[in-house]
Amino acid sequence: MKFDCIVIGAGIAGLSCAAFLSKAGKKVALVERAEKPGGCFSSFQYRGYHFDSGIKAVENAGLLFPMLENFGIMDKLDFVKNRVYAGFEDKVFSMESDESLLAYFDFLGERFPESRSGIEDLLKEMEELNSFMGSLSGMSGPLYGKTTFLTKLKSIPWFFKNGKKLLGFLKKLKYNNVPFRDFLRARILDDELVSIIDEPFFDGTPAFFGLAYPTVFRDYFYPKGGIERIPLEIAEFVRNTGGTVLTNTEVTKILLERNLPVGVVTDNGDELKASFIVNAADAKRLYNRLLPENTLDKDFMQRLNRAQVSDSVFSVFMGVDTPPENLDKHVEHVIYVPVAAKYCDYESPDYFKTAGMEISIPCLRDPSLAPEGKTGIILNLNTTQKAMNGWGKGISVEEYERTKEEVADDVMANFFRPYPSLREKVEFRIVATPFTMEEKTLNSGGSITGWNYHPSETFPLRDFMKMKKSINTPVKNLFQVGQWSFDPAGLPVCLITAKLAADRVEKALG
Ligand SMILES: Cc1cc2nc3c(=O)[nH]c(=O)nc-3n(C[C@H](O)[C@H](O)[C@H](O)COP(=O)(O)OP(=O)(O)OC[C@H]3O[C@@H](n4cnc5c(N)ncnc54)[C@H](O)[C@@H]3O)c2cc1C
Repeated sequence: MKFDCIVIGAGIAGLSCAAFLSKAGKKVALVERAEKPGGCFSSFQYRGYHFDSGIKAVENAGLLFPMLENFGIMDKLDFVKNRVYAGFEDKVFSMESDESLLAYFDFLGERFPESRSGIEDLLKEMEELNSFMGSLSGMSGPLYGKTTFLTKLKSIPWFFKNGKKLLGFLKKLKYNNVPFRDFLRARILDDELVSIIDEPFFDGTPAFFGLAYPTVFRDYFYPKGGIERIPLEIAEFVRNTGGTVLTNTEVTKILLERNLPVGVVTDNGDELKASFIVNAADAKRLYNRLLPENTLDKDFMQRLNRAQVSDSVFSVFMGVDTPPENLDKHVEHVIYVPVAAKYCDYESPDYFKTAGMEISIPCLRDPSLAPEGKTGIILNLNTTQKAMNGWGKGISVEEYERTKEEVADDVMANFFRPYPSLREKVEFRIVATPFTMEEKTLNSGGSITGWNYHPSETFPLRDFMKMKKSINTPVKNLFQVGQWSFDPAGLPVCLITAKLAADRVEKALG
């Protein structure tokens, strides 16, 4: 079969890239090894409950909605506002307004009076960055529309009004190379307070993102029907515009002739031909397994294989015999810290006894996502494959299962602090480790945002100004998009790189 372009992996990046190409009339094949598209945007159903196994809500970031509108599928997706709360011990605080955010920091200030001035510094920096980001919200990204003389003219008054804030924002880009934890430590005396504030973020998260989170959280939405509605609708769009979506199909080799791509081989032995290939999956796997041996020089391979991947996730999916209206807290999405604890590293055996978690309750956004009178709850904790002594996975299946269940017990004990009435109501739980994540997505180490956020341990570009180059690989006409293309990654990077690659391929094909 001959195509203009083959896209490997139907996560949000591969789907978006394939959709732009098929919309432009290019003959595209999107190849996905799982039975459904989605990757880190997947959901699953169990006993009538709907669970999102990857991302729990999406930030628009001036990118997602304009892209869906560009594909004409926005009205097929019914997004509801997703309110994010900060939880500590048995309390929760909304992050929806400046007032409620201040109430949270006031509460922390009372608990840690010696760190009050540090909290004020932090809030000042947050306010400066977020006031600019607030001016941006509502503006759609320039990626998906045509820049006309009229749009340029319209932006002039915006620059007059926001020019000063824009300069302040550009200055804050320096925080992209400072881990949020270091930023906090330089201002806040109490280590426990640093841990509480830093808890929701991955190890090495740049201060820029830590500071921007109030704006990001207020920009979160949830599609009725669950997260998987987004990939399913985009895949449908690819098909409707003439593209081919192959599921249950894994790319096992990329074929090169004179160092240029000519196609791929799949696990069922088929050869798909194309002179452009976009890898929207793991980059370590691309260079180590998919490309012919010795395609790349030793230095490149050494640097690649030395680089570390980002954190992964430990998840508990629970079915609870209680209607959502009877929950101790009627909130859909909480970033929760159970106790004030010193910084505890992921590899410590005690990490899960105090670790913070993301709590997500799908049926509080869409009641149809749990059986009548019941509630499905998801707990997510940042971790790695090295934690818990490699989860006992190298030892035996029994050891792995035992470790998983023990960790789930610790995590649930903490979850019951703010939800005490649910202790006796859990009907079942399903537990997933970073190995589950790797098995489902083929992302190295079960990574959920690609490369490690620490500048010294990463592989790809980190410079926003050079982002256009992040999709290049050493092989001409082979591009890398998604969470393995730029660091630090997440949904916005996936969408931007998908569009950049689609534009490059489209232009080259003419
Ligand atoms: C629990 C969780 C919470 C998150 N929260 C946030 C958040 O709040 N904000 C944010 O911005 N980001 C968040 N993220 C990260 C974000 O979801 C991911 O960075 C993003 O979805 C990655 O998309 P992707 O398309 O690059 O890769 P993936 O989603 O990993 O997709 C890659 C796809 O390629 C397929 N594949 C791999 N190899 C092959 C092959 N050889 N042949 C065929 N198919 C292949 C895989 O099966 C997979 O479907 C979260 C992720 C998780 C898991």
